[in-house]
Amino acid sequence: MSDLATHLATLDGHLARFRDKGILNLIGGHDTPGSGGMFETHSPVDESLIAQTARGTAADIDAAAKAAKAAFPAWAAMPGDKRKAILHRIADLIEARAEEIALCECWDTGQAWRFMSKAALRGAENFRFFADLAPSARDGKSLPTTDHLNVTSRKPVGPVGVITPWNTPFMLSTWKIAPALAAGCTVVHKPAEFSPLTARLLAEICHEAGLPPGVFNLVNGLGEEAGKALTEHPDIKAISFVGESRTGSMIMKQGADTLKRVHFELGGKNPVVVFDDADLDRALDAVIFMIYSLNGERCTSSSRLLVQDTIADEFHTKLVDRINLIKLGHPLDPATEIGPMIHKTHFDKVISYIGIGKADGAILAAGGNRVGEKGWFVRPTLFTNAHSEMRISQEEVFGPFLTSLTFQDEAEALKIANSTAYGLTGYLWTNDLTRALRFSDALEAGMIWVNSENVRHLPTPFGGVKASGIGRDGGDWSFEFYMEQKNTAFALGHHNIQRLGA
Ligand code: NAD
Repeated sequence: MSDLATHLATLDGHLARFRDKGILNLIGGHDTPGSGGMFETHSPVDESLIAQTARGTAADIDAAAKAAKAAFPAWAAMPGDKRKAILHRIADLIEARAEEIALCECWDTGQAWRFMSKAALRGAENFRFFADLAPSARDGKSLPTTDHLNVTSRKPVGPVGVITPWNTPFMLSTWKIAPALAAGCTVVHKPAEFSPLTARLLAEICHEAGLPPGVFNLVNGLGEEAGKALTEHPDIKAISFVGESRTGSMIMKQGADTLKRVHFELGGKNPVVVFDDADLDRALDAVIFMIYSLNGERCTSSSRLLVQDTIADEFHTKLVDRINLIKLGHPLDPATEIGPMIHKTHFDKVISYIGIGKADGAILAAGGNRVGEKGWFVRPTLFTNAHSEMRISQEEVFGPFLTSLTFQDEAEALKIANSTAYGLTGYLWTNDLTRALRFSDALEAGMIWVNSENVRHLPTPFGGVKASGIGRDGGDWSFEFYMEQKNTAFALGHHNIQRLGA
């Protein structure tokens, strides 16, 4: 039976070694301190110090990139079924340590246990999914003509850098690291400075599972130091990045001199569009879940509600009633639905948008206030009567913050939905099939769910359009990024070769 007290006691046991030794880097199979000293990581729950963390610099990135380069030929040449076996062992160990991972994730990020306990297991699933694809990752096509047999094959690009954000960091990083390893790439991971704890657990698990030294390297540190150095390193052939759109554009500039291949999963301001013919009870559940779960710190969150004016008043009344009942509390309490914002900086950003929404003339219909004096808790917030041009309708807040706009008809809904710089996901609620087809076809988003919340199927492509990203994850799309295509043409006979100078 897990409850808050048991969780806290178990967590304390897991954290003891980090309090003593700090959260170290793992480079070439060795624990190393950061050459830039240490930085502190604090819990957003009570602002207490969790541990000192290695502050990696360009020198540590250089050591990690060299280790990844040295390990690459043997890892790339290892038969796919052997790589598969090691990746399955990683998944086994994630499952075995799922409770520890989930407890640490909750404490480090403020995410609620009810979601993180599943997120740790999703990490294992990601490893299993790509483990099974490892033996066929290199497969290609035979494309014959009358004169030539063209044969394609894929080869891993080389050592790659993976740079991740602080929202559900464990699950999210496995989604990048597992396909890279399955493809035969070696990896240098730079996790977010706000959430170093579970990245360290993943590095330990990879090491323990028998991943050869240097195949996976962890360098903690700040974005502008370690992160920047990783994107500029000549031995790193590609950067897989998840984070804010403006960081993505910085990384593109930083990687230009070394012609870095980039894969970006960036921000979103995703619409959920509710027509008056929809199943409104289910739509209400989905609207609430997709903005307030995971503290709203979720790239795919439906942060803009577009509701048809004929049902807006009724829908808002029900929405406010439910929002006011959402249980905000200690993330390790299994009853908690929303925990604190990750960090004071982010808390300040979320709170600032409450002032912005009011100043712009929208109506604060729920939440909008800090809870408690310790920790970064914000009551789930709803603004109604918003217009599309307002900042709260255009900018990513990345918290438990919903902006509601009304529309008259389909054309207006589409115009509003497509009016932001972003295009990650869209959610559509209607029982009119033809409209669903027409609307989803015209909606500018990489992923759309119709009469559903975000339910992920790993073989499908994950990613965004416009300022929400470049490239896709999932299934074979991941291998397209981590591997090079090669085509070899074999002459089948004596075709005519033009004879110059003959
Ligand atoms: P962020 O961009 O601030 O940081 C992400 C990572 O980039 C961190 O590890 C950071 O240290 C590093 N970084 C910062 N500056 C860098 C630089 N100059 N060079 C190299 N690395 C640098 O993002 P965040 O605040 O940690 O995360 C929240 C953002 O992530 C939101 O915008 C959210 O929408 C986005 N996100 C997108 C997806 C998606 O799939 N599209 C998924 C999760 C999060």
